[in-house]
Amino acid sequence: MVLNERRAKVVAMANQKGGVGKTTTAINLAASVAALGKRVLVVDSDPQGNASSGLGWDKQSSQGGEEEALHLYHCLLDGVPAREAIVTVADLKGKLGVLPSRIDLIGVEVELMGASKRERYLENLLDPVMDEYDYVFVDCPPSLGLLTINALTAADSVIIPLQCEYFALEGLSQLVRTIRLVKNSYNERLVIEGVLLTMFDGRNRLTHQVASEVNEHFKGRLYKTVIPRNVRLSEAPSYGKPALLYDRRSSGAVSYLQLAKEFLRHQKKS
Ligand code: ADP
Ligand code: MG
Repeated sequence: MVLNERRAKVVAMANQKGGVGKTTTAINLAASVAALGKRVLVVDSDPQGNASSGLGWDKQSSQGGEEEALHLYHCLLDGVPAREAIVTVADLKGKLGVLPSRIDLIGVEVELMGASKRERYLENLLDPVMDEYDYVFVDCPPSLGLLTINALTAADSVIIPLQCEYFALEGLSQLVRTIRLVKNSYNERLVIEGVLLTMFDGRNRLTHQVASEVNEHFKGRLYKTVIPRNVRLSEAPSYGKPALLYDRRSSGAVSYLQLAKEFLRHQKKS
């Protein structure tokens, strides 16, 4: 169906561990894919709101002065259409939008507890804007709670960022089990898009050990591109910019652009 082909592909960044590079990947992969000419939306589904602030979203409404800007909580619980909360961010020819979040989002886990079809709220919310984007990247919180379940139910695929450290693989089987559960119960399209090694330090022997273990586990799904540890990637969010607009020559910006190309090459094949 022609209509269907125009719909965005939804990719969730998931790993219940914090600090593995989900948000950094959501911001920088999204910005790089947008820089390559695709229409991209980042959905910030983490109450910490780091993807929102890292993309320069301002909590105060631009028109209303002191008035609070709309965000994902309003969409999920007050019926505000996604379009009303989405803002265009970064200087990327209007190709990059964010559906922002702030700490209020934490209430969703409790407030939707008794709701029927509570795993489909995000999918239903995004449905009306799916023709307006090529890719939607959902930044998940560091848990396997309802927000992550909503992201996985709305998604076509998952990118799993892994930090190359001793405990990198710990908890991974739980994540894979959750992905399988969502696939079996709510969303049969769901697949693992790729596993991404972040904060890679080639001088560290452990890094190579983790890389080879992951490669064995996820045959063919480990991205060839690895993201090095690069201070620019951690500085850029405080300027509200993706790395490619903060220091486009930095190794962080360059490797996320390379990842975006690898990601887009996979789309053609599948
Ligand atoms: P998560 O979203 O999984 O919790 P983040 O993307 O927020 O992880 O990353 C955790 C911290 O590590 C942040 O302070 C971030 O700026 C930093 N960071 C992430 N990736 C890199 C990298 N490749 N090099 C240096 N710092 C990084
Ligand atoms: Mg995060």
